[in-house]
Parts: sequence; C-alpha cells; structure tokens
Amino acid sequence: MTYVIAGAGPAGVIAAETLRKTNPDSEIMLIGDEPEPPYSRMAIPYFMAGNIKEAGTHLRKSNNHYDDRKIKYVQDRVESVKPQDGKLTLQGGEKQAFDQLLVATGASAVKPPVSGLDLPGVHHCWTLEDSREIVKLAKKDANVVLMGAGFIGCIILQALVECGVKLTVVEMEDRMVPRMMNDTAGNMLKRWCEKKGIVVYTSTRATEVS
Ligand SMILES: Cc1cc2nc3c(=O)[nH]c(=O)nc-3n(C[C@H](O)[C@H](O)[C@H](O)COP(=O)(O)OP(=O)(O)OC[C@H]3O[C@@H](n4cnc5c(N)ncnc54)[C@H](O)[C@@H]3O)c2cc1C
Repeated sequence: MTYVIAGAGPAGVIAAETLRKTNPDSEIMLIGDEPEPPYSRMAIPYFMAGNIKEAGTHLRKSNNHYDDRKIKYVQDRVESVKPQDGKLTLQGGEKQAFDQLLVATGASAVKPPVSGLDLPGVHHCWTLEDSREIVKLAKKDANVVLMGAGFIGCIILQALVECGVKLTVVEMEDRMVPRMMNDTAGNMLKRWCEKKGIVVYTSTRATEVS
C-alpha cells in the first residue's frame, strides 16, 4: 500500500506518523511545497518576538525524524491529481503513484481588494518566509500598521509589541477579534492595547496602501 500526503503542515505530519504506527510496512510519502522542514505556523509569533529560534518552529526537532520512521519527505508541489489512475504529478513533471491520497494542503492568506498590497514593505504573516521578512523590518520604534485584528492578527499584534514597534491596528469590524469576542471583551482588548500605546482603529477599512 502506498500512502501519499499532499501538504506537510501539522495535519500532514500527524497523518504520516499515525499511518506509520498503524501500517508498519506501507510506503508513506509526505509532500510539502514550502522550502522548509515541516513547521508550525502557530510558532511564528514566538519566532518574531525572539522567544525561539527559527528551528523552534519546526514540528519535529531531529533531522532524521522522517527517515527514522521511513516516511519519505519530499519538498515539491503537487500540481495535479488523477484519482482514477491513482497518480499525481509534481511541479517538475515527475509522476507519483498512490493507493490512498490525503489532501492536507491547508489554507492560504486572503488578499483583500486594497490597492498597493504588492508594494515593498507589505507582507502577509502566514509563512515562515513571511515572518523572516517582517522580522527584518519590525525593529524597535519602526512604524508598523497591522491590517486585521482577528484571532491570528492579535497573536501577531502581541509579537509586534514585543518587538517594540510603534503599532497602529486597523480593523473593519466594530471591535477587535469580532468573530470570537463580544463588545465587552473586544473593547477590553482595545483598551489594553491603547494603554500600551497602540493606536487602534475599529469600524475602519483600509482602502489603499501607497
Ligand atoms: C501566525 C499564525 C499563528 C497561528 N496561531 C494559531 C494558534 O495559536 N492556534 C491555532 O489553533 N491556530 C493557529 N494558527 C492557524 C494554524 O497554524 C493552522 O490552522 C494550521 O497551520 C493548519 O494546519 P494544516 O496542516 O491543515 O495546514 P498548513 O499549516 O497550512 O499546512 C499545509 C501545507 O501544505 C502546503 N501545500 C499547499 N498546497 C500544496 C501542494 N499543492 N503541494 C504540496 N504542498 C502544498 C502548504 O504550503 C503548507 O505548507 C496560526 C496561524 C498563523 C499564520
């Protein structure tokens, strides 16, 4: 039996390890398209704040972790899948056969329709590579604008505070973390931010970056 897992985030890694425990003799291939060892996006804020080194974001710490479990880890992108043939094609054109394929390709950050988001100095904070670029810019007293104060935005907010930047937050809903917090909790968070010198605009939509 050949199991192939597309996507080497937490879901893909746990799936590969679990399959290995229950299928000692199967072939297991884990394919991830990021040029990194499998890592946890959840650790990115700790890396940005300098609380951990980059290696601390890696999901498994030993270099041989996947080899030791006979999990073939491949850095490549799954371009297309033909389920009826049990085959997929990688970016370079190489084909891989599978009996079972797990698609664990996660999500990607949404780019809102705001002009100027491709300008230098504007970054998503979704991948380890994004965070490296942000760390280069988020030096003490640098002016930083954070668009979006949802759950993940607020985790990033805390990391930016720890970097010592001058922070302005723009959130289009009427409170911070609007999908998880009611008025009371959202406004408590806003006051906490303001006490720390963060400028918070709620009910405010960014329309252009220039
Ligand atoms: C800064 C930040 C902080 C977060 N903090 C928290 C938190 O505190 N708590 C929490 O619960 N969640 C948090 N999250 C969300 C959490 O990281 C995600 O829910 C989690 O990463 C999802 O895991 P996943 O394996 O499904 O997908 P992902 O981690 O997105 O992994 C999927 C992988 O598949 C790869 N891939 C995509 N397409 C292909 C393809 N065609 N071929 C090969 N590979 C492909 C992707 O590049 C990626 O590496 C945070 C996210 C971020 C960005």
